[in-house]
Amino acid sequence: MKVVLQNLTKIFPSRDKKAGKEVVAVNDFTFEIPDGKLIGLLGPSGCGKSTTLYMISGLQKPTSGKIFFGDDDVTELSTENRGIGLVFQNYALYPHMTVKQNILFPLQNLKGADKMTKEAMDQRAHWAASLVQIDDLMDRKPSEMSGGQQQRVAIARALVKMPRVLLLDEPLSNLDARLRLQTREEIRRIQRETGITTIFVTHDQEEAMSISDMIVVMKLGVVQQIGKPQNVYDDPVNLFVAKFLGTPPINVLEGNIKGGKLYIGQDAVLDVSAPDQEVFVGIRPEGFELDDNGALHCKLSNVEVMGRDVSIVSTNPASCNPVIRSIINADNKVDITAGEVRYSLKPHKVFLFNKETEERIRCEVK
Ligand code: ADP
Ligand code: MG
Repeated sequence: MKVVLQNLTKIFPSRDKKAGKEVVAVNDFTFEIPDGKLIGLLGPSGCGKSTTLYMISGLQKPTSGKIFFGDDDVTELSTENRGIGLVFQNYALYPHMTVKQNILFPLQNLKGADKMTKEAMDQRAHWAASLVQIDDLMDRKPSEMSGGQQQRVAIARALVKMPRVLLLDEPLSNLDARLRLQTREEIRRIQRETGITTIFVTHDQEEAMSISDMIVVMKLGVVQQIGKPQNVYDDPVNLFVAKFLGTPPINVLEGNIKGGKLYIGQDAVLDVSAPDQEVFVGIRPEGFELDDNGALHCKLSNVEVMGRDVSIVSTNPASCNPVIRSIINADNKVDITAGEVRYSLKPHKVFLFNKETEERIRCEVK
């Protein structure tokens, strides 16, 4: 089921009448989510992810704009009639019910033509439970299960009605690191197996990058960029997106374009085809190469060996962050006593941004 968002906007009135500023939680969001894909809705806390999800679910009514499931306009449709499955951060299971009763619950409330026989419901509950691999825990109460298992029950409960669209709001945030990793892979597998169009909300860029077919990056209610995770990482439209994706994060330095050369301090580091101006230079950690004749001079402060890779921590007066972090292959030997490190830069890992607007400057870099 494709999901179409058309100029979707949500404005909350101000809570404090006197201070009087309304909040534009979601601002003119237009996007067609392709059928059967997993979309990661990504951005910092408060950027409008949940509000977008709640509008798609029908829990909140848009101030303006429309929502379509396939060709059906569902904007005015109630949550129950949209055919969605919802999963929240806090699993929200009924504590006095067993796993089986929790999963059966949405089916028992079906009315009229949708009403199911007991056998059909049991079969369906078993199908959902085995999909998330908890079919051997059906008689337990939520309190007798780990957080990861409880979240699986919540996912099974969302799947049991075979929803047209699955909506997940930070479903992994309450799990510890290892479970988070495991459960996100499970969600990806379940999504592939069922082919249900899925929207996955998270503030964790790595989580979104690792499981999404496409990511949508939001800031202050406004969509910044939509694309395949790798494409957005390799080709960010602005400094915000460049900084939001990637660990360690992109290094940002002040630079200067003069006569077709990009300067960082006194160092002419690359040739660029852009007019003279001051810029922000974003350099991915993997964009540095150790080079005795490299143009960029940095003060060496630390070398951290991380198995396959080495992380070099250095400083430069032009850096906007306290340190510059580069990642290079561990085969490279770095002399920590040297005091200085010199780099050449990989042009496709270097992005230039307008100093005022922070928009990407599109030009040739070599
Ligand atoms: P996210 O899920 O990305 O953290 P939200 O969608 O929850 O962000 O919130 C977006 C913005 O809307 C925030 O500024 C938040 O304070 C505001 N907001 C959310 N819900 C309400 C509400 N019910 N009333 C007023 N403001 C709200
Ligand atoms: Mg939220």
